[in-house]
Amino acid sequence: MKESFVRHEARITYYTSPLLDRHGIKHMFTTRRGGVSAGVFESLNFAVGAGDITDSKENVIKNHALAAEVFGLTENDICRSYQNHSTNVEVVGNEHKSTGIYKDPFPYGVDGLVTKEKNLILSIRTADCVPVLLFDYQNRVCAAVHSGWRGTLGRIAANAVEKMCSLGADQNRIVAAIGPCIGACCYEVGRELWEAFAQADKGFAACFTEKDGKVFFDLTMANEMILEKSGVKAENISSARLCTCCDKENFFSHRRDGANRGTMSALIMIQ
Ligand SMILES: [Zn+2]
Repeated sequence: MKESFVRHEARITYYTSPLLDRHGIKHMFTTRRGGVSAGVFESLNFAVGAGDITDSKENVIKNHALAAEVFGLTENDICRSYQNHSTNVEVVGNEHKSTGIYKDPFPYGVDGLVTKEKNLILSIRTADCVPVLLFDYQNRVCAAVHSGWRGTLGRIAANAVEKMCSLGADQNRIVAAIGPCIGACCYEVGRELWEAFAQADKGFAACFTEKDGKVFFDLTMANEMILEKSGVKAENISSARLCTCCDKENFFSHRRDGANRGTMSALIMIQ
């Protein structure tokens, strides 16, 4: 379901899901506002970058510190992985604090993180891809997922639900927040992608629209479907439906700006 996410303008500007707020789980979807980075990374940037222009590691760490501060913690309490559009979801614990910050990340791509640990901040990063945050409010298990089209096709959100259940979570008690990502308004895709999704599951057809010979893909809807098929109740899925590509003031966007751009973060933590 679409919900108006709550915009917070503190030192940094971020959004929270009213549904997750009601269940008392600390979480946020950052915007690009309130950080220390400059130029194309202005200003709340969470990755050094893969384009010709890069941000400094110091700036990126400081921006993580600003986000952790909202939860009353520091960058040392964050676990952050190297993401490569995989469908890998890892269970992490306190020994993973500071992973991807001062400690090396996993040596392979990990695009979803799950934990039962308190005061361990899970962070994933996006700039158009879908950030999904999950929380079982009864069994106290949470997850953060990076789901671009590859992750969506590979149903990484379903993998995360499965991993959560392996830690004692129950699908009926999971609430989900789908954060700002590229909307169907801007996400033009090739016909081969449409076909690949239709082949994976006929249900995905509803996520594609055709206009003037062009095909547009609704990534948010696809992830809602994946979560529902995993057993998460429709009323427990909250979607921001804020388009990162449309809103340059607030969001970084790969589609809009290419590789020389910053990256946002979605963070979640059990208290
Ligand atoms: Zn748009």
